[in-house]
Amino acid sequence: MSKVRTRIAPSPTGDPHVGTAYIALFNRCFAHSQGGQFILRIEDTDKQRSTDKSAKDILAALNWLGLSWDEGPDKGGDCGPYRQSERTGIYTEHIDRLLKEGTAFRCFCSSGQLSELRQRQMQDKAQVGYDGQCLELSEQEIADKLADGQEFVIRMKVPRDGECEFDDLLRGKVMIRWSQVDMQVLIKSDGLPTYHFANVVDDHLMEISHVIRGEEWINSTPKHLLLYQYFDWQVPVFCHMPLLRNPDKSKLSKRKNPTSIGYYQAMGYLPQAVLNYLGMMGWTMPTGEEKFSLQEMTDKFDIKRVSLGGPVFDTEKLDWLNGKYIREDLSSADFIEQYAQWAFTSEKMEAIVPLLQQRVERFSDVAPLGNFFFSGQLEITREAFTHKQLDEAQLLRILQFTLWQMEKLGDWQRDVIEQELHKLAGHMDIKIRDFLFPLFVSISGNAVSTSVIESISILGLDITRARLRHGIGILGGISKKQAKIMEREYRSWGG
Ligand code: GLU
Repeated sequence: MSKVRTRIAPSPTGDPHVGTAYIALFNRCFAHSQGGQFILRIEDTDKQRSTDKSAKDILAALNWLGLSWDEGPDKGGDCGPYRQSERTGIYTEHIDRLLKEGTAFRCFCSSGQLSELRQRQMQDKAQVGYDGQCLELSEQEIADKLADGQEFVIRMKVPRDGECEFDDLLRGKVMIRWSQVDMQVLIKSDGLPTYHFANVVDDHLMEISHVIRGEEWINSTPKHLLLYQYFDWQVPVFCHMPLLRNPDKSKLSKRKNPTSIGYYQAMGYLPQAVLNYLGMMGWTMPTGEEKFSLQEMTDKFDIKRVSLGGPVFDTEKLDWLNGKYIREDLSSADFIEQYAQWAFTSEKMEAIVPLLQQRVERFSDVAPLGNFFFSGQLEITREAFTHKQLDEAQLLRILQFTLWQMEKLGDWQRDVIEQELHKLAGHMDIKIRDFLFPLFVSISGNAVSTSVIESISILGLDITRARLRHGIGILGGISKKQAKIMEREYRSWGG
C-alpha cells in the first residue's frame, strides 16, 4: 500500500476552534500510527473572510496542544506551497483541463437570475439548485459573452439521474442521489477557486491517502468524488468523524460552550489534558483508561474504535480531567514553573503593573485589586449590577452590543477598544460613564476597578467574551427573539 498521508485543512476565518484540534488529533494519530505523515494546509480561498491573524492563531493553538505536523506552511515539504492563496496558478491550470474536456463549464447567469430561479423552484416545491442553463450555450455564444466582458463563474457538470455511492471508513456505504447535488461553482467570478475545487486538487497533489474530516462534509463528498473521476485520479479513503456536541446534544456552538482553543489556554487548562479530552470524543483506549498521552493514543490508535454517537464536549468533564493532570502529573516545581508561565508572563505583567501601582498603598493591596487578571469566571451577583440610571434591559443591551463589537475587532489595541466602546455608547445615547458600568462589573467583578478598557485589552478576547456572556447570564440572559431585535438595531449602526 502506498504511504499513509492525512491532513488538517483549516480555513482561517475565525478563532482556532476545538473542532479543528479534534479533527487534527485523529488525523495525526491515524497517520503516525501507520508510519505516515500528517500535513497542515491553510485553506484561505475565501478572500473576504480569511485573515493572516486567524491563520497564525490556528498554527499557534495547534502547536500549544502539541499537535505538530510534518509538512505545512511554516515547515515546508515536497508538496508546497501549503497555503491555498499561493497556489492560484495550480488551480487555473487544472480548471483549464476540465473546461477543455467539457466536465466543467462557464456560467454567465447573474445573481438576479439565480435568485429568480431559486424562488421559482421554491414555489414549485422543486429541488433548489442550478438548472444547467448555461450548459446549453454554443461555442459562439460563449465567445461572444467573453468578448463582451461578461462576468462568469465555472461550474462542474453533475449528472441529474442515479446516485453516488461511496464507502466511508466508519459508516460503510453511503448513498446520495445526484439530483441532490448542485452543479457546484469551482471557480468564482474573481477567478479564485471555491473550497471544493481547491480541496480536491490539493488533496491529490499533496498525495493525501485518507481524508478524515467532520461529518458536515458528507454531502459534499459526491462532488469531490466526481472531480476525482473527471481528473482520472485515485480516490482517497473518506472518513467522516462525528461532530462534537454541546451537553444538550446540539452541534457544538460558542453560544453554549466556549469553542476557541485560546479560551482553554487563557483559562489555565493544561494542553495535554485538553488533548486527552479531545481524544475521548468518540474514542476509547482499548484498556478503557481515560487518562492517556498523545503518544499512548497514537500507539494504540485504531480508527475503527471511533463511535458515531455524537460525542459531547462537556467542560465539567474536562475540568475533572485537568484537575487529575494537575494533581498527578505535576511536581511542585513543575506547578510553580507552569503556573508562573501562565499567570505572570512578562508581557502581561508589564501591562498590569502600571495599572495596579497607581492604586495601591501596600503590596498587600495588589492581590485583591488585581485578582481578576488571574481568574477565569468571576463570582458576581445580580445585585452587583444595580444602577441608578440603567435598568436590566439596558444593561443587557450594553453587554450584548459590546460582545458583538469586541468579536468583530480585528485589532485588539487599547485605543481601538476605547474608540469602539465610545461609538457604541454614542449610538445608544448613554453617557460613557454609565455605559462602562456593566462592563466593569462583568470584567473585573467590581464597579470600581482599574480602567476597564485597559483590562479588556490585557485579558484578550476569549476571557472578555466569556465574562460578558457570564454577565448576560446573571442578568437573566437574552431570548432569541430579543437577540434578533437587538441584532437589527446593531446592524442599523453599521455594526
Ligand atoms: N477548509 C475546510 C474546513 O475548514 C476543510 C474541510 C475538509 O477537511 O475537507 O473545514
